[in-house]
Amino acid sequence: MDRTALVTGASRGIGRAIAERLAADGALVAVHYGSNKAAALETVAAIETAGGHAFPIEADLARADGVDLLIEGLTEGLDGRPLDILVNNAAVFGPGIDATPDEFDRVFRVNVRAPFFIIQKALPLLRDGSRIINVSSGVTWFAVPEAVYAMTKGALNVLGRSLANTLGDRGITVNTVSPGITRSDMNTWLDELPGAAEGVRKIVALGRVGEAADIADAVAFFTTPDSRWVTGQVLEVNGGLYLG
Ligand code: NDP
Repeated sequence: MDRTALVTGASRGIGRAIAERLAADGALVAVHYGSNKAAALETVAAIETAGGHAFPIEADLARADGVDLLIEGLTEGLDGRPLDILVNNAAVFGPGIDATPDEFDRVFRVNVRAPFFIIQKALPLLRDGSRIINVSSGVTWFAVPEAVYAMTKGALNVLGRSLANTLGDRGITVNTVSPGITRSDMNTWLDELPGAAEGVRKIVALGRVGEAADIADAVAFFTTPDSRWVTGQVLEVNGGLYLG
């Protein structure tokens, strides 16, 4: 274990793939989840079976005290070690123009407020030269009915640029990975709607639906020395979506 990492929303989907990849690269990984403990323990078990090291942290980021709970669990699990990699991946999808104020607030709490305060409260734990990666979405540049979700991801893109500038004097890089259409529980329509996956293939240059590992490998790049001169950037990881 030469490094440490926190991956939020690592119980399932893209977050799980990121956690497994960073653990395979040698990091001790904090596997955060909201409520699905069984899935988080599966991620931890998969990492340990592969010879890696991980521990789970439960914290519902929709709750007012969610970030504090997460930082408490992280501090305990790190047991005095600094944090080298912070990946803000957890998010919830929806709603659109028919959103109630409560629904609107919930999506912003999980997708925007939480990443902001996780970074703020993790700053004392983060080593100089450490890496922050936020997971955004292609919906920042193509339209979807879920306007509230899209707005939250736009906020993350802006956050990355601002914080990269603020944290540069500590050598901390802040980058944003923006997945395209990726198979996960957030996208069950890919398997449920007849012809959906085929339709996606037609609008993706590389001709297939994205997999969680495709995103995890891009995140991993931002944790390597090869990315040392890259900060404040948004990387679209989508196989060439809507190239024409
Ligand atoms: P999933 O729905 O598969 O997983 C979501 C993860 O976030 C789970 O680990 C879940 O934890 C956690 N989470 C959800 N709500 C909360 C909460 N209230 N508090 C704490 N944790 C919570 O999503 P994906 O893997 O598809 O998405 C991962 C990231 O990628 C997200 O930021 C998403 O916006 C982004 N993205 C995904 C795309 C896709 O096509 N899949 C496309 C573009 C961007 P639990 O298991 O406990 O519920």
